[in-house]
Amino acid sequence: MKALHIKNLSKTYANGTQALDHVSLTVEAGDFFALLGANGAGKTTLIGILTGLVIKSSGEVRIFEQSIESEFSRIKKMVGVVPQEMNFNIFEKVQDILMTQAGYYGIPRKQAVHRAEELLHRLGLWEQRYKVSRQLSGGMKRRLMIARALMHQPKLLILDEPTAGVDVELRHGMWDYLKQLNQQGITILLTTHYLEEVEQMCRHAAMIKEGRLVKCDKVDNLLKIIDKEPFILTVDEVRNTNRLKGYAVSVVDRHTMKVELDKRHLHAFIRDLEKNGMSLQDIRPQGHRLERLFLQLLREDEMAG
Ligand code: ADP
Repeated sequence: MKALHIKNLSKTYANGTQALDHVSLTVEAGDFFALLGANGAGKTTLIGILTGLVIKSSGEVRIFEQSIESEFSRIKKMVGVVPQEMNFNIFEKVQDILMTQAGYYGIPRKQAVHRAEELLHRLGLWEQRYKVSRQLSGGMKRRLMIARALMHQPKLLILDEPTAGVDVELRHGMWDYLKQLNQQGITILLTTHYLEEVEQMCRHAAMIKEGRLVKCDKVDNLLKIIDKEPFILTVDEVRNTNRLKGYAVSVVDRHTMKVELDKRHLHAFIRDLEKNGMSLQDIRPQGHRLERLFLQLLREDEMAG
């Protein structure tokens, strides 16, 4: 079954901005899917359409085979959303926020109490349950948003940059939890700026640029595109670079070189470097990997069209 079926989806806002331009993509039930794109690419608009906050201009959207136009009340029950902006009442207590959500979905009180208890434990918020939400740390607030989105046991969980502003340690905990949810059968769609997040969790990813779908593929295939990484090397003195045949080396200055290679060949390269009389003092990867993936895909897209 398809969790999401999007065909020729377009959105033009009232001011004339075309945020989505004939986007077509499919997400299978059970998938863990990443939506990538720079700021302004159209990700929030796409999520807004899926969650009923934005009205599409044209095209077709089906969630678990139901059309978002005619079956929206059914769809609402199947989808949980974690928006980017915290949007709960900051004076409401953590537990009450979950209970209010349950009320909104018509979950019987007894069941809701049980469910809230379970989620508070699982997301590490049990000790905070009587605190008003503004007393929570940023990471706790984020987890509260996830707990709230899960109250009605959705089949599809949509998260808009779930780990933005969450520190590294908590981020890993959150990844583990999202992976567990996915293993339990929940389809997950998220937007992110972290390639590591995509590598760790997602099976498929789509990239949009200026409202158009540039690429949609298995994450493994996307990562192959950036197998070769640029590294910046500092050596005692650059010499005999002509002997480093077979490597894409360029000299930056007397002590610095750049080489582009597959990480797995790094050791061999360093060996060859030292064989040729250079002593390595420092080596570091150049640049952010997701950025390079974007650039590479954009380049391919421009060449294709
Ligand atoms: P992303 O989430 O990828 O950053 P958005 O979907 O927020 O992208 O925005 C896509 C484009 O649509 C941008 O050019 C943005 O300025 C524009 N946009 C978003 N929301 C509105 C709106 N309510 N009215 C007009 N333009 C909008």
